[in-house]
Amino acid sequence: MNNYFIILAAGKGHRFSLKKPKQYIDYKGKLLIHHSIDKAIKSKLFHKIVVVISKKYKKKFNKYKGSKFIFINGGKERKDSSLNALKKLRRYKPKNILIHDAARPNFSIKLLNNLINNLKKYNAVVPFISSQDSVKYNVNNKYFNLDRRNIFFTQTPQAFRYEDLYSLSVKQKGEVTDEATLFINNNLKVKFIAGENTNTKITFSEDIKTHKTYFGIGFDIHKLVRNKKLYLGGASIPFHSGLKGHSDGDVILHAITDSILGAMRKKDIGTYFPNTKKFKNIKSAKILKPIVDNLTKSNFLINNLDINLICEKPKVSKFRNKIINSISKLMKLDRDLINLKGKTVEKLGLIGKEEAIACEVIISITKYD
Ligand code: ZN
Repeated sequence: MNNYFIILAAGKGHRFSLKKPKQYIDYKGKLLIHHSIDKAIKSKLFHKIVVVISKKYKKKFNKYKGSKFIFINGGKERKDSSLNALKKLRRYKPKNILIHDAARPNFSIKLLNNLINNLKKYNAVVPFISSQDSVKYNVNNKYFNLDRRNIFFTQTPQAFRYEDLYSLSVKQKGEVTDEATLFINNNLKVKFIAGENTNTKITFSEDIKTHKTYFGIGFDIHKLVRNKKLYLGGASIPFHSGLKGHSDGDVILHAITDSILGAMRKKDIGTYFPNTKKFKNIKSAKILKPIVDNLTKSNFLINNLDINLICEKPKVSKFRNKIINSISKLMKLDRDLINLKGKTVEKLGLIGKEEAIACEVIISITKYD
């Protein structure tokens, strides 16, 4: 296993409309740069993984411990960063070297294997994809057509015999955009292999507009009192008592409201509906509605809602359908996305003595931009 992997991640990402370089944005659940490192580890193909970074971001790599990893500082330009890494590896006498841009997180392990296999026969192996678009070029304000069958887009990782790449890199004066350029400029043979359409470079912020999912939790408890109607999830439930509260005491709707506010990071129900005269005896559906409306207006969609109703009685199984239908209607939410569980407390405490009902809710929502 005389293979070494170099990841270039010292770029400042000027073309990216973000404050931090693109390799440090969150992408599909982790930092963009971590995708390349994790894939190199998973492939088990490499003796060492060298990551060329800017000193400022060193602590973003704290989780990568052990002698497999080498973190070094980048140079002024890409070619300087690449040369720094090649020099660092010299003492290990590497045979094969793969160089990769951190801005391409979506390459496959199959591609890594393919590159390394081809190095048995070739000194330089570069993946490419053909052009899907028509291409023109401009000379002195005159436009010319290029035959797109002759156009190739090179990708990374690119694979080389270490000695060849090292000697070319040491001699290279001007900036190069990839290592294949070095070989082509020096009239050396490059073996082109099929790249991957999904292995695109993350360059513009549109590329990384991902849908973000959030969770929220809600809890509520109210005392049961005689001579009051019982409302659960907006449905009227026949029972010997109702829930005491500033409002109709609907524990389910209150817990749902708080779970939404939690997922949206917008404080709690008391912030918007304090125990003031204005909200005395308010129907809980009227509390929930503006919160759900705001959720929809802010481009959130509810993925699912899971409810625990904690009481000795009434028996949830008896009223499950009625309650779920009511919540579904109030929230304009498909009833298949709502789950209601009944939970007793072994006759313990206030709830066990049928003097109170509690409810907890978890909601999952996704923001679509
Ligand atoms: Zn409440």
